[in-house]
Amino acid sequence: MVRLRGVSKTYRRGTVEVPVLAAVDLTIGTGAFEAFMGPSGSGKSTLLNLVSGLDRPTTGLVEVAGRDLAEMDDRELSDWRAAHVGFVFQLYNLIPVLTAAENVELPLLLTPLTRGERRRHVAAALGLVGLGHRVGHRPPQLSGGEQQRVAIARAIVSDPDLIIADEPTGDLDRKAAEAVLDLFGVLHRDLHKTLVMVTHDPHAAERAGRVHHLDKGVLQ
Ligand code: ATP
Ligand code: MG
Repeated sequence: MVRLRGVSKTYRRGTVEVPVLAAVDLTIGTGAFEAFMGPSGSGKSTLLNLVSGLDRPTTGLVEVAGRDLAEMDDRELSDWRAAHVGFVFQLYNLIPVLTAAENVELPLLLTPLTRGERRRHVAAALGLVGLGHRVGHRPPQLSGGEQQRVAIARAIVSDPDLIIADEPTGDLDRKAAEAVLDLFGVLHRDLHKTLVMVTHDPHAAERAGRVHHLDKGVLQ
């Protein structure tokens, strides 16, 4: 599903070049659940941004679902991302003035689905994350764990093959974190999604089939 070869990333700050990732080779199979750990600043989020096509590498190949992402222009890449990748972030990134259902519907607004079809997909996604009774709540009226489950519903509503999660349990207590990880288990086992998760939490990493370690931009 994901193949990186000789990937490096250097950010330029003024005249200073900051190397963040170096010579990363990585293969993640379709249907795998893999975790990345490493100190703050080691390049974990940068790596996720490259895998999801949010950013482009300085050198090297990034191939996802058989596509070399370098072959797509920015417009094509953003359409590809909308169709193939779902994102989950530490701080949920929900829109506070929209209801849970409206937040989950957002990725579908750019698709040709009718309003009725969108509603059905939204109801199914919120049902899957156990929030069928919270559709009209806005994020400030939900607990952190519930907000993260709404974010997961939004990530899966367009049925992407790849789910990318950046410290998805970083802001949750143990119980809410376990609920989120249980859901990831469902996405992986029952829906056959490929999951790539960055985490600082060893309990979360235990759920993954494989744990990679990054240190100063180098995969150990
Ligand atoms: P954390 O665990 O704190 O989230 P991380 O492993 O996710 O850390 P990254 O966010 O990938 O780390 O950042 C790696 C390094 O790259 C950091 O030193 C950061 O300052 C730098 N960096 C990240 N994004 C940019 C950017 N857009 N421009 C310049 N430097 C950046
Ligand atoms: Mg990060």
